Amino acid sequence: MLNSSTVISVQNVTKKFKDITAVNSLSLEIRKGEFVALLGPNGAGKTTLIEMLEGIQSPDSGKISILGASWKDNESFLRGKIGLALQETRFMDKATVWETLELFGSFYKAPEQRLNEILELTRLTEKKKTFVNSLSGGQRQRLALGVSIMNRPEILFLDEPTTGLDPGARRDIWKILEDLRIEGTTMILTTHYMEEAEVLCERIIVMDKGTILDQGTLSELLGKMGGGEIVRFTLEGGAGKEPEVFLPKLGRSKFLWNPSNKEGRVFVDKITEYLPAMLDSFSKAGLALKELECHQKTLDDLFLSMTGRGLGE
Ligand code: ATP
Repeated sequence: MLNSSTVISVQNVTKKFKDITAVNSLSLEIRKGEFVALLGPNGAGKTTLIEMLEGIQSPDSGKISILGASWKDNESFLRGKIGLALQETRFMDKATVWETLELFGSFYKAPEQRLNEILELTRLTEKKKTFVNSLSGGQRQRLALGVSIMNRPEILFLDEPTTGLDPGARRDIWKILEDLRIEGTTMILTTHYMEEAEVLCERIIVMDKGTILDQGTLSELLGKMGGGEIVRFTLEGGAGKEPEVFLPKLGRSKFLWNPSNKEGRVFVDKITEYLPAMLDSFSKAGLALKELECHQKTLDDLFLSMTGRGLGE
């Protein structure tokens, strides 16, 4: 029985392309008003999953229900309820911002008041009469976001909405997304920027090889990985063998070793306790450090511990 606040339900969904299983018996529920990030390395199955939720692809098996309806029997109802903000939206360059909004607004019979609301929300009021080809990358992306919410979608899919934008333009998009969250829009974001998921989303779903590896708030996910800080080191020449035997066993420490570049990462509770003990045991074992770096745990570290690869790899 579905919870009444569930707006997206995915049950045992599988999608294959020849011998590749892009999405593998995956189940997921998203509640009204949630802002969810889907993260995973290249080929994890994110696009395939999202496109099935958007009704662009259909599953080989399993069930997807959006706002209680299936895509097969309710396509036009669902098209009116969802918004798609794509990575790149093509506009007519010879049209102004206002003409562009009028064109997209005409598809939904949106009144002029809605176009003005969108200008305000996307902070483009001053650019109303500017030709689209004179907008900056960030302004174009704000316009694309504005167009995608013309019909006041209950669910908005955001496919890497800030890829290629500079940090200032990215933050402008985040502000708009914050406003949409306050309005109660359910949003599903795919992104390669970890900090984007960290800043915006209350639930992060980590995917790899067509399945969900883990999900939760950022602090829940990071908390599962042992301690809160990371010691990263590389060793000078010679020491080809795994240095785990030389590492102090302190607290809930966890160790990852990459033999190809001789890089080790230890997840520790307290760097101040761990580091002196580590340096002492390395020195006794005759291991020489080439690099040493300490930092707070990030999603990339989480990824590495779950999949053996970083997010960007
Ligand atoms: P990225 O971050 O690179 O966009 P992704 O997580 O979105 O990756 P998908 O694009 O869903 O991953 O791909 C999952 C797997 O399915 C990959 O191995 C991909 O090569 C394969 N795949 C996806 N679409 C097709 C297709 N149309 N035909 C054949 N294989 C496909």
